[in-house]
Amino acid sequence: MKKIALVTGGTRGIGSAISRALNDAGYLVAANYQSGVENAEKFRDETKISAFSWDVSDYKSCESGIKEVCRVLGGTIDILVNNAGVTRDCMLHKMRLEDWTKVITTNLNSVFNMCRLVIQSMREKNFGRIVNISSVNGLKGQVGQSNYSAAKAGIIGFTKALALESASKGITVNAIAPGYISTNMTEAIPDDIKENIRKGIPVGRFGCVDEVANSVLFLVDEKSSFITGTVLNVNGGQYL
Ligand code: NDP
Repeated sequence: MKKIALVTGGTRGIGSAISRALNDAGYLVAANYQSGVENAEKFRDETKISAFSWDVSDYKSCESGIKEVCRVLGGTIDILVNNAGVTRDCMLHKMRLEDWTKVITTNLNSVFNMCRLVIQSMREKNFGRIVNISSVNGLKGQVGQSNYSAAKAGIIGFTKALALESASKGITVNAIAPGYISTNMTEAIPDDIKENIRKGIPVGRFGCVDEVANSVLFLVDEKSSFITGTVLNVNGGQYL
């Protein structure tokens, strides 16, 4: 039987590459998104991967969303990739409470919501793979990203704790910390700042979405069963 993989924010950017890679590798994939309906329909037409809309920052929405995925795909979740994320960059002295709350609830509370709702069935099956997408900026901080860096650092602590709790149950829990990857999120960075960032990347370029997707494939492989609680840097050699 095919293993069921659920990717949040899975119809666009890095998430879309992850969904496609898992699909190509023979997993039965569900891709979640929030509001990009047109994009999700295009993704569904191109890939034939099922796409489901809900807000991962809302526990009740996650509960009904996961229930629907399990109903449509005919089983429980074997592989969860928590990829959905947003930025609301601003220096702290100008940051509004809503920019803080939006980033923490979307990037960090979502990881609690999703993991909380799948962990019991993984424990019962004695198998599970959870990959949480953190960020280089969760490890080293970034100007204008106290909210984002806090959320992404929080993901790393969460990952390590859940890995310990789940280790005896055949469940691995790992994080990936991508460096700068070319997507809509990084398109929003002004060109002069992008050029400065590029100069600081030893490989000399931004990463591409498939390079992150490939590292997810590695971590979710059944044979990667001895790798848990780790943070895999996919960042072109940036020194942390
Ligand atoms: P994009 O902005 O291209 O895509 C974000 C995805 O998340 C979209 O599919 C979006 O859905 C979804 N999403 C956002 N909010 C919610 C929500 N509340 N509920 C459900 N889905 C939601 O981002 P990237 O592909 O660039 O980033 C993906 C992940 O990788 C993020 O966690 C990001 O922080 C992380 N990352 C990215 C880096 C980069 O350089 N790009 C570097 C390091 C980490 P919709 O299409 O409906 O809007």
